[in-house]
Amino acid sequence: MHRSKMLIDGKLVNSVAGKVATIYNPATKEPVAEVSVGVRIDAQLALDAARIAFPKWSETHSQQRGDILHEAARLVRQRVEEIATLLTCEQGKPLKDSRREVLSSADVLDYYAEEGKRNFGQWVPAASQGSRSLVVKQPIGVAAIITPWNLPVDLMAWKVGPALAAGCTVVAKPPSLAPLAATAFIRAVNDAGVPPGVVNVVHGSGSVVGAELVENPVSRKIAFTGETATGRWIMEKAARHIKRVSLELGGQSPFIVCSDASVDKAVSACVQRAFSNMGQICISVNRIYVAEEVAEEFTSKLVDRTMKLKVGNGLEPGIDLGPMFSEPMRQKTEEHIADAVQKGARVLCGGHKPEGEEYENGFFFLPTVLENVDHSMRVMREETFGPVAPIMHFEDLDEVISLANGTEYGLAAYIFTNDLTTAIKAAERLEAGGVGINVNNVAEIQAPFGGWKQSGLGRELGHYGLDEYLEVKHIRFGL
Ligand code: NDP
Repeated sequence: MHRSKMLIDGKLVNSVAGKVATIYNPATKEPVAEVSVGVRIDAQLALDAARIAFPKWSETHSQQRGDILHEAARLVRQRVEEIATLLTCEQGKPLKDSRREVLSSADVLDYYAEEGKRNFGQWVPAASQGSRSLVVKQPIGVAAIITPWNLPVDLMAWKVGPALAAGCTVVAKPPSLAPLAATAFIRAVNDAGVPPGVVNVVHGSGSVVGAELVENPVSRKIAFTGETATGRWIMEKAARHIKRVSLELGGQSPFIVCSDASVDKAVSACVQRAFSNMGQICISVNRIYVAEEVAEEFTSKLVDRTMKLKVGNGLEPGIDLGPMFSEPMRQKTEEHIADAVQKGARVLCGGHKPEGEEYENGFFFLPTVLENVDHSMRVMREETFGPVAPIMHFEDLDEVISLANGTEYGLAAYIFTNDLTTAIKAAERLEAGGVGINVNNVAEIQAPFGGWKQSGLGRELGHYGLDEYLEVKHIRFGL
């Protein structure tokens, strides 16, 4: 069985209290690993190591930090099979998706290896003859990084990459039920030649280890991805020391299909983005609005494609969808479907666990398409975080945009149309941090990613992601 220790001050260590936990495979409920589980004191030791390592790392030349990040990317690619297998075993997603996630995390490290060198300052015109003003950006200090289980490697890379490139030191807390792949990723970063204490990992629960990282004054920045409720709690606690926070929170993404859209392209995009990772992605398609004229064609093609998706153990070849991550996630999906059906929705496919011996132990669920839905139903307002695609018809673009904007979330929105005016108007009016026009993904390494409204604060990726780890300083010269 795999064993995973914590990484503190460059050493692999057990928790001070000697606590361990078993990690289970959601496809089989079989144990896959034992992890060392930290408590507050372990988090304090890691924060201390990061605090001591900060002055030297922050003064390292950006070229040198870039070289280390490139080497880290190379090591992650070299270890792709090991890290991806851990990811599938602890999280459930098909191995091909795990490989894609790990390789994408290496790309993020490569990107920030270069972006760190573009931390430009500014020479600002001064109001008087006798002075000059220079603006520079410097690393904040120790960054606490807290990540969820749905994309544990990628979301770790989105934070560790820019933090190290900026010159910050890091204490990372991966999700307690899926810490293996994220820890293996950080070990690769550490093995690339990062000095001891620059990057640390502490395992343990959010309410203990996570809370210590947030509340302890040593961390100057909290980078968090997770639920909106947790993000709100973190923001409140961070306020005590006026810490910088970036919060990537929940989503409830609309997918609009106009009458002039290419229906086949929209169906392909929709089926992939609604069900990939069993709908457990913050930018998953959560609600579909289809123009009346193409609704019948779109719906029948979507159902057809959905029923062809192969559900199974992610380690087996040819699988499209693994199990859900946990029983509570599966229960929440069932509750949202039951609520919709009770209010008049029709289940066109899925809606229950698959039958068969191979599905008995895991948290499997069939991808589900619903029609005849409306906004009184939880699936249309709350984040299901499950494989459910509810379809509603519309006649008027203004009306559908107002429906699309009608939740507390604002992470991603998608529209399929071949009319430029419609595309521009929709892109301008949709209240979301990312709008996809004829695409089903708004994550792009060089562009900002983040949410409006209760979907978050701050941005990851692109040069915006680097800025989250930098403080601005004005240096004024008297002549
Ligand atoms: P949670 O908010 O429950 O947990 C996320 C992380 O925070 C985990 O490491 C968790 O630890 C930790 N945590 C929990 N409570 C605290 C606390 N009080 N203080 C500090 N840390 C804490 O989210 P999930 O893991 O359930 O992830 C799913 C959520 O993530 C969804 O809502 C999804 O939309 C969102 N998400 C957002 C994305 C975005 O970019 N906007 C991208 C991906 C997901 P532990 O594991 O021990 O509970």
